[in-house]
Amino acid sequence: MSERLGTTPKDAAAIILLRHDTNPDNPEVFWVKRSDKLAFLGGFHAFPGGQIDAGDAEVDVRNAPNPETAAMISGAARELFEELGVLAARGGDTLTKGQRTSLLDDLEAGRMSWQALLKHYELYLDADDFTYVGRWVTPPFNARRFDTWFFLVKCPPKQEPNVIAGELASGEWLPARDAYDRWMNDQVVTVPPTLHALRTLGAGIAPDLVERFLSIPHAHGEPARRITFRPNYICFPVRTPTRPPATHTCCYIVHNSKEMLVFDPGSPYEEEQQALAECIDEMIGEGREVREIILTHLHPDHVGGVNALKEHLGGNVAVAAHAQTAEALQDVHVDRFIEDNDVIALAGEPAIRLRALHTPGHALGHLCFHDEDRGVLLTGDNIVGVGSVLIDPPQGNMREYLKSLERMRSLPNLTVLLGGHGPAVAAPYQKIDEYISHRLEREQNILEAVRAGASTPKEIVERVYTDVSPKAHAMAERAVLAHLEKLRDEGRL
Ligand SMILES: [Zn+2]
Repeated sequence: MSERLGTTPKDAAAIILLRHDTNPDNPEVFWVKRSDKLAFLGGFHAFPGGQIDAGDAEVDVRNAPNPETAAMISGAARELFEELGVLAARGGDTLTKGQRTSLLDDLEAGRMSWQALLKHYELYLDADDFTYVGRWVTPPFNARRFDTWFFLVKCPPKQEPNVIAGELASGEWLPARDAYDRWMNDQVVTVPPTLHALRTLGAGIAPDLVERFLSIPHAHGEPARRITFRPNYICFPVRTPTRPPATHTCCYIVHNSKEMLVFDPGSPYEEEQQALAECIDEMIGEGREVREIILTHLHPDHVGGVNALKEHLGGNVAVAAHAQTAEALQDVHVDRFIEDNDVIALAGEPAIRLRALHTPGHALGHLCFHDEDRGVLLTGDNIVGVGSVLIDPPQGNMREYLKSLERMRSLPNLTVLLGGHGPAVAAPYQKIDEYISHRLEREQNILEAVRAGASTPKEIVERVYTDVSPKAHAMAERAVLAHLEKLRDEGRL
């Protein structure tokens, strides 16, 4: 069960902080940009929050309906204090800014627990200050998952949020509609609960506000299926027999008012194919046509649902891929070949132009797609948001792969990478650099192991892949082989 659904979500809480005395028609919220270095949603725009600690349940929370809610409120308040220095506790208005800072010091340095600190200063949390506005669960396509409770909190008067270096890169107050517009204008990368909150607040604070927050099943713990890291790009993860820790393949539906392109409908499972078909049918119902089904590469977890989708659409939708992909696929017919630098332009609004990049290495005929106007790169399996990329010869070729990464690195103005597995990557250049340097470092270590006398891939793996579990050693041997081929081809071995 757990394997099928991915990892079990951990309890977390987040706070949507509203500015004191803000305009109810378009209230100001405090949103943050997460540090690029964070493993979970690094570089994303979000609300402050984090994982619940065991100690959170020990805090005095008055008027809470039950101990579970009390613990969530306590965790949310602690995260708010740790990340932004805002103390949403009753009695806190008597503290000076300096006192709050020294409290925070005590908490961060571990001199006092959250519970002891509140008690010592005769502070308490009141559930009436924390309006519950939903509970969102990270979809199972991510290896790290959270079950996050969201609370709306008014920033206490005389306190100002202040981004404390570490997990967050920056933060700012801005009207909810302006924040939403930034997403619409491709300036930020974010996740569904953030977008939902901005849309809901942007419609104004009225008596039905909480009802609107809770009006969708995703606000009640049902993971969202359509994930819009960016406008016009729906990520629709489908469960596939792929390589752990990934459990899903990201199918992307790139769309505008008139047309859509469906990338990598990879699931061989009927219920997953059905879910995707329903999403596409709904978009067709809104007046769009499926222009093409496009394959980034030939691996089974990327093509497993192509025939089913084509059949569902009445058989008259073309499948497009690189000629080498077409040649290698036996059960999927490719109707149109895509070559390097081909441009696919969608009819309709807004204009969307994708340039195909032939980027082999992970697989023969691998394609990436670049939307230069928006800074979006569909990376297929060359860069992924979860797990690692396997280069398995003879299909895989390390030299080609590194060349492909360099080419991706050279693209101007990238703002997001949408990969074949896991969430979007919001710090594109940093991630590509990380991939390149990781491979070059391995290569150097392999070269040294060979010089020190290791003569088989098995021996090399034992010396070099000390950070990898023995279960993954067979896979690592394939990667070593790819490195050795590259070194040989370059005359370095
Ligand atoms: Zn692949």
